[in-house]
Amino acid sequence: MGLFSDMEKLGLGHYSEAEIIEKNKNMRNANVDPDVEQAAKQLERKEEDYIFDKKYTCPVCDLGFTSKCVKSGKIKLSGHDTDLRPTYEFMDPLKYDVVACAYCGYSSLTRYYGRLSMRQIKELKMSIGNKFRGLPDIEGAYTYDDAITRHKLAVLCSVVKGAKNGERAYTCLKTSWILRGKRLTLDENSAEYKEILKDEIDCIKNAYEGFVLAISNEPFPIAGMDESTLKYIMADLARKLKKYEESAKLLASVLTSKATNHRLKDAALELKELLKKDVASDRR
Ligand SMILES: [Zn+2]
Repeated sequence: MGLFSDMEKLGLGHYSEAEIIEKNKNMRNANVDPDVEQAAKQLERKEEDYIFDKKYTCPVCDLGFTSKCVKSGKIKLSGHDTDLRPTYEFMDPLKYDVVACAYCGYSSLTRYYGRLSMRQIKELKMSIGNKFRGLPDIEGAYTYDDAITRHKLAVLCSVVKGAKNGERAYTCLKTSWILRGKRLTLDENSAEYKEILKDEIDCIKNAYEGFVLAISNEPFPIAGMDESTLKYIMADLARKLKKYEESAKLLASVLTSKATNHRLKDAALELKELLKKDVASDRR
């Protein structure tokens, strides 16, 4: 189990956070120029060729709907961000990690989809289903905006159904990743960039605060992550929120834990350097 265990459900291979860290290193070491032929091939690739419509029956409204999924084993990981957001060659499969009912709006990350009590179904019907106007039919690939809508719906549903802090926090984290995906396609000086960045930071804040609560009262794994992996991610979220002391404490816990594998320890050491730089530049 690891942060990316839900990606396996989408058929994206068996990435653990450790493998991702290792892969990223290899890529940096290799430093090979992209092959021209390969680049030409990539231009011909269409995102819609890598996705398919999967059928679901909604546990809230009982209607059948389809949600888009990524075909198994088709796309390659290219690296990861400091908070372990994975990046892939050619497309961003993270866009497809929410299952959303087009009719009543019940949505969740794929890993949490469908596990509902009667009380939760009632809450979702009352607070969302009764007001929901439906999702439009989408031909082909999701845009980032389509994905952002679905992720925000999933965050909302996690709040309405009273999900555990771990689930709520993880859904916020994944939403921040989708927002970042879109933000990185925009001009840094545009108003939209700044707006998205603000939403992204809100999601990071909610994710961090939710994880703080989760580690105090939920058993590991939380959102499929072991303690070291989650604390590593939390250290990066705290750094981004300028909670430098909390970030340093979390990193110390990751670095001194016997359960932390050497690859995550290496990543934690790199993050510690980044934290030092942030602290220094903030003092200036
Ligand atoms: Zn439904």
